[in-house]
Amino acid sequence: MNRDIEIFEFEWYLRDFFFRSTSHINDYKVSFKYNKSDIAENIKNKYLRYRDWELTKIEEFLMVTLVDMGTKGVVDFNIQAGKAELISLFERKQCSDCFYVNILSLIEPKSCVRCNSKKLLEFPIKRFPRKTDSV
Ligand SMILES: [Zn+2]
Repeated sequence: MNRDIEIFEFEWYLRDFFFRSTSHINDYKVSFKYNKSDIAENIKNKYLRYRDWELTKIEEFLMVTLVDMGTKGVVDFNIQAGKAELISLFERKQCSDCFYVNILSLIEPKSCVRCNSKKLLEFPIKRFPRKTDSV
């Protein structure tokens, strides 16, 4: 597989990991700090896609991706210390043009990372509550 595509895909999983580990939190002021090696182990254990990967390869991809996300202002990544801190929480938005599920930091522009469309919808789309659900 083309390495650029692999990196693009890896970033999605990393964002998914950040999203899941913070999705129960409502307070944006809480700071989230991660060790690079902890993230690598989590990605290997939580995602089937990376189960067969060597930890060193995951760490190598993590390095590239965290530096890139640091450039985008999404994480504060200290390379020497191997520590990453989230600048804000993440949300999932599905593109209504190409159906790609974007995982975007709250401070990022709301456009699809695959096709650049601005037509993003909540994901998963919230169902209307049924009458029986109300008290
Ligand atoms: Zn799109």
